[in-house]
Amino acid sequence: MTLRPPADRHRSTAPRHYAIVGAGMAGVACARTLVQAGHRVSVFEREATPGGRMASESTPFGRFDSGAQYFTVRDPRFARALETATAICRPWSANLVRVLDPHGRVAEAALPGMEQHWVAQPGMDALVAHWAAPLGDALITRTRVTAIEPDALDAKRWQLRTAGDGDAQHVYSGFDGVLLTVPPGQARGLLDGGRLSPALREKIEDVRIAPCWTLMIAFPQANQPDFSYLGPQWNAARSNHHRVAWLARESSKPGRDRIERWTLQASAAWSQEHLRDDSARIEAKLLRAFSEITGIRATPSHAQTRCWPEAKTEHPVGEPHLWDTKARIGVAGDWCTGHRVEDAFLSGLTLALKLA
Ligand SMILES: Cc1cc2nc3c(=O)[nH]c(=O)nc-3n(C[C@H](O)[C@H](O)[C@H](O)COP(=O)(O)OP(=O)(O)OC[C@H]3O[C@@H](n4cnc5c(N)ncnc54)[C@H](O)[C@@H]3O)c2cc1C
Repeated sequence: MTLRPPADRHRSTAPRHYAIVGAGMAGVACARTLVQAGHRVSVFEREATPGGRMASESTPFGRFDSGAQYFTVRDPRFARALETATAICRPWSANLVRVLDPHGRVAEAALPGMEQHWVAQPGMDALVAHWAAPLGDALITRTRVTAIEPDALDAKRWQLRTAGDGDAQHVYSGFDGVLLTVPPGQARGLLDGGRLSPALREKIEDVRIAPCWTLMIAFPQANQPDFSYLGPQWNAARSNHHRVAWLARESSKPGRDRIERWTLQASAAWSQEHLRDDSARIEAKLLRAFSEITGIRATPSHAQTRCWPEAKTEHPVGEPHLWDTKARIGVAGDWCTGHRVEDAFLSGLTLALKLA
């Protein structure tokens, strides 16, 4: 099914064609809303699939959520949107979350009545993929936007230069507006140091976002009946270990393979300090930290790392989205107001409603 504008839909503006750069939660929320309001969109995504930082990695031992681990539902607008994805979203019993001291001892147990944690199944990327599916061929994947320029045939519009697989380069033209839903470093680059919109440059100048190294490990041997496995009693933990900020037992999430699997997220400070280290070194250091925290000394059958150069907002814009009327360029993303999936959704939604 392809999402098409309803013929009799009330619109406050004439139909326009928007280019949306990025198919994470913000970009897809924005695209859906604009289409529902009767506008046309082209969504460019550099990866093969939508999802962005709600990524999920498939391995022979099951899936890992390499980015967002879960999401919260605090805003009624997000809750309403999730009613269209009830088959995909499941509560995760993260009431088992503990705060650990640097040696892995439980320092503070989670409180009963803690906020509900939700996950998408079979992986976190499934939610964005579900909402992106009706966009049909308006979603253009494996296509990285490299520059935004005035349209060669109509200076009142924009054109985008893109790079695809191999050497493939294209120019897409005829856009009434360009909406950037990429992390701030990418957005700054595409704004060409602010030349395209001094107003936007000023607003995003002070935004800071920290990197995150992630380790994903699997212990299929732990599921063998004759294996004495002494893992911790909790499934997810915030940690004060100097290297590790978060650990989660992936196999404890609903709709996942039961093979024992863990994801670790390094702390922002440690990730920044080791940003340029190679994967092998990161893997060894984080594995050592994992053993110290959990007491698990077994060698994992599978280990892989992923570095997110722009993971978690430290200093946001402070506005739900940005729109430069003169330049006809907008910005949305979690980093406008926060660092969560829900922030990204609301940012994309409010930008679209502003233009609808
Ligand atoms: C390790 C980690 C753990 C996290 N844990 C949680 C958590 O537990 N709970 C929670 O709520 N949030 C968590 N988050 C944050 C959450 O993932 C984000 O808030 C949300 O996914 C951001 O969505 P977005 O659409 O704003 O940006 P993104 O998801 O970053 O989407 C941007 C998209 O743009 C694409 N792109 C970038 N540049 C270009 C280009 N030039 N051309 C084309 N496409 C481009 C990217 O590939 C990406 O798909 C976590 C994030 C990370 C990295």
